Amino acid sequence: MPDAFSKKAGYQQYFGKAHDMVRRSVKEFMDKEVVPFVDDWEEAGEFPRSLYKKAGDVGILGTGYPEAYGGIPGDIFFQIAVCEELMRPGSGGLAAGLGSLNIALPPIVRRGTPEQKERFVRPVLAGDRIAALAVTEPGGGSDVANIQTTAVRKGGHYVVNGSKTFITSGVRADQITCAVRTGEAGSHGISFLIIEADTPGYSVSEKLKKTGWWASDTAEIFFDGCRVPVENLLGEENKGFYTIMENFQSERLQLAVMANMTSQLALEASLEYVKEREAFGKKLKGFQVLRHKLVDMATEVEASREFTYRVAAKIDTGLDQIKEISMAKNFACQVSDRATYDAVQIFGGYGYMRGALVERLYRDNRILSIGGGTTEIMKEIISKFIL
Ligand SMILES: Cc1cc2nc3c(=O)[nH]c(=O)nc-3n(C[C@H](O)[C@H](O)[C@H](O)COP(=O)(O)OP(=O)(O)OC[C@H]3O[C@@H](n4cnc5c(N)ncnc54)[C@H](O)[C@@H]3O)c2cc1C
Repeated sequence: MPDAFSKKAGYQQYFGKAHDMVRRSVKEFMDKEVVPFVDDWEEAGEFPRSLYKKAGDVGILGTGYPEAYGGIPGDIFFQIAVCEELMRPGSGGLAAGLGSLNIALPPIVRRGTPEQKERFVRPVLAGDRIAALAVTEPGGGSDVANIQTTAVRKGGHYVVNGSKTFITSGVRADQITCAVRTGEAGSHGISFLIIEADTPGYSVSEKLKKTGWWASDTAEIFFDGCRVPVENLLGEENKGFYTIMENFQSERLQLAVMANMTSQLALEASLEYVKEREAFGKKLKGFQVLRHKLVDMATEVEASREFTYRVAAKIDTGLDQIKEISMAKNFACQVSDRATYDAVQIFGGYGYMRGALVERLYRDNRILSIGGGTTEIMKEIISKFIL
């Protein structure tokens, strides 16, 4: 957008030259290290562990984190640019798996002691350790205040019993940022512990088989008398519910960005296809009904992306955007639901075939309106603000 416009209309450019440089370097990394292999990783159900180290070495994992722990600080749009480029090869699972630190580390960065940050943030940003967030339990994910995994303090340890499920990067995680019950029933009895995977009493299920996000490993995690040192308590005891809610804001932003990229990729693939594919002696783009479908898709993607960026900019200035980020996530997911459905329709039978990008986008997309708070939970939150 020209500068004159910025000045006249107060238009805020979200991405500047520095963001573009970061975006270009992530794209180069993805083109070299991911794109040639991603289809095989999708089929195999995981990407190589060494990718974390490679991504750590070039600063991808550290973008947006404090320099003191090996990060490269910057405003929220640096992380958005990275997230968009992680999504560009069209594997939501790869983006979710490589990016699981972005839901696991923020509570440690915000509430951790300097020692905890040194031990649990620095090596993750470097790609030497894998971090996951563990909140959801087999008994329920939406009702976060009802967490059942217990942590009872005995001397210098918390003894943890219970289980967590659907944990992204859970199979390979070296550490989890884990919500546990340390106190009374309800939201005032929840704390966070950082639990290391080699702690006795900690075990992990087989990789869970999923509709989409195949390249990310998802696990159930069990705690059987798992003894966690009290030094691993994150923040204050029984104040963890607030930390969960705080963390949801950035997780929902990431999911909105992922949904917008999913829509963008579905749109781009469809635009290419209608220019090549013929039916009844003419290109598909010659059919007005398909052109209009694409126009609706393009319009919705642009509106959703702008709204998400706007909310992100407000979050970055410190404004409370709980209602707005819930709206942005829901809106982005509605758009990506339609875009992925329509893209498969435009591709016809080929869109239903494994190996077609739009087929994977269609599968990967389904989780976005479930993870990080479902559509219904977002609506419950929004309703509290507007009613
Ligand atoms: C691939 C994948 C990766 C995930 N990664 C992680 C992770 O890394 N860490 C983590 O902690 N969790 C993770 N999750 C869990 C995810 O956050 C939960 O699945 C989600 O929060 C929903 O919880 P649930 O599945 O238990 O559904 P439930 O809470 O059982 O909800 C079932 C249905 O009831 C509806 N519902 C529930 N309560 C209400 C209400 N009050 N009003 C209206 N409707 C309601 C829901 O919207 C939903 O439609 C992941 C899930 C998946 C599938």
